[in-house]
Amino acid sequence: PLAASAIEAIQSGRLRFFPQHWVKTYLHWLENIKDWCISRQLWWGHRVPIWYCRCGHRFAAREDPLECPRCGSKDLTQDEDVLDTWFSSWLWPFSTMGWPQDTPELRTFYPTDALVTAPDIIFLWVARMVMAGYEFMGECPFRDVYFTSLVRDVQGRKMSKSLGNSPDPTEVMKQFGADALRFTMTMLSPQGQDVYYSNEKVELGRNFCNKIWNAARFVLSNLPQRERRGERKPERRDLKLADRWILSRMNRTVRSLTRFLREYRFNDAAHTIYDFFWHEYCDWYLELIKPRLYSPSTEVERQRAQWLAATVLRVSMQLLHPFMPFITEEVWQRLNAGDGGTSIMVSPWPQCDERLIDEAAERDMSLLQELIVAIRNIRAEMNIPPDRKADVVVEVPDKESLRLIQHNGTYIKNLAKVQNLHAGVEMNRPHQCCATAVVRAMEVFVPLEGLIDLDRERERLQREVKRVSEQVERLSRRVQNANFLKKAPPEVVKKERQKHLDCQRNLEKLLVNLRALGTDV
Ligand SMILES: [Zn+2]
Repeated sequence: PLAASAIEAIQSGRLRFFPQHWVKTYLHWLENIKDWCISRQLWWGHRVPIWYCRCGHRFAAREDPLECPRCGSKDLTQDEDVLDTWFSSWLWPFSTMGWPQDTPELRTFYPTDALVTAPDIIFLWVARMVMAGYEFMGECPFRDVYFTSLVRDVQGRKMSKSLGNSPDPTEVMKQFGADALRFTMTMLSPQGQDVYYSNEKVELGRNFCNKIWNAARFVLSNLPQRERRGERKPERRDLKLADRWILSRMNRTVRSLTRFLREYRFNDAAHTIYDFFWHEYCDWYLELIKPRLYSPSTEVERQRAQWLAATVLRVSMQLLHPFMPFITEEVWQRLNAGDGGTSIMVSPWPQCDERLIDEAAERDMSLLQELIVAIRNIRAEMNIPPDRKADVVVEVPDKESLRLIQHNGTYIKNLAKVQNLHAGVEMNRPHQCCATAVVRAMEVFVPLEGLIDLDRERERLQREVKRVSEQVERLSRRVQNANFLKKAPPEVVKKERQKHLDCQRNLEKLLVNLRALGTDV
């Protein structure tokens, strides 16, 4: 039967399903195939090409017959039924290309690469197109089939007219933007799982659009016209740690995003570029190069920073383009002003340059990042006013880490608001009262004298300790209360236990901070 070649196609890997688990459904149907009814009683459709003669002869014909081939009678009637809609749909991959004529379109587009469809029509459409493809064209109509997720509301209900729970996409686009909607839907749709949609979730995409726009504006405003073309590519030896790091991260992003797209893992692809652009390029790289853009020691240094900022922005726009076509095109046009306005969509897809993947730079940067985050956390916990620069003492385990910190001291000073940075292998702990943190094998001390009003901070912390202790007390009574444990739903119990734990941790932290201020607790 027709099913045999369709089974063989999936088993040999000629035909691939994403997600793969739909193969089972497909095979189950084909392996247990039965004849199915192809006619319908409808007003519209292809009429079944069967004719009946008075003599009892029934026959099929391509053209309307003039007479009965058996008795020659002209008194023929055509069947009243029409073909099921799927009957013509299964011819779709080639009938739309001019088949049965041998056209250039047919030769170019048959077979095609990918079919994107919904899993509820695997029997009705996908399997039948495969069977018809082998029957009439001798070849499978496509290589890959991607089954989309089903969009449900936040309560998990299917969207339907009667429930009135489906938003009007044009309204959502008016409110949040088309790019925001598209990007959010992609982020929310893991391969093979349903999407739980609500309008509020589209804020994620809108915020990302704003982030992109602001970053692009910042880069462009610091980029003279002539640097926009990216012609002054810096030599490798002139790259600073931050530059080597961002180029390494960018190339990794190109590599994994491209792989995710090939595997139809669109949400992983979206997450990859989102994390890179927001949390590496914007949060770190653009901050790290600000001193070089604003007050460089030489003009060449500024140009290198400009080149890198523009290059990473350009590649990011290309990687984002499939998810956010409008904003990326706009930024691209501004970046490449004077380029004749060639669209981003015809630019070549970025390639990963393996030579720029730099393990050492990534390792060093992540250590510096942890150090900066630790100092920032101390500042926040100790209520150090944002405009006050702190002194920081770092005790490091070896010469290598010492060199790293000394060479990159400006990064730490700028990003963690540090005045004087002292680092050494066998440093003595400062005598003043200090806030401390441990970052891997390094110990960080921030002397607090003069930075904050110690007495007021002690009082504030003591008040906090009192408040949180009471909270811990109350919660621990509750999570030990037999009656509560018996009556409350399990998820409520779980939530209260978590709250109890969080409060305890919070209390411990407060006590550590209080001790740092020289209070015995
Ligand atoms: Zn006849």
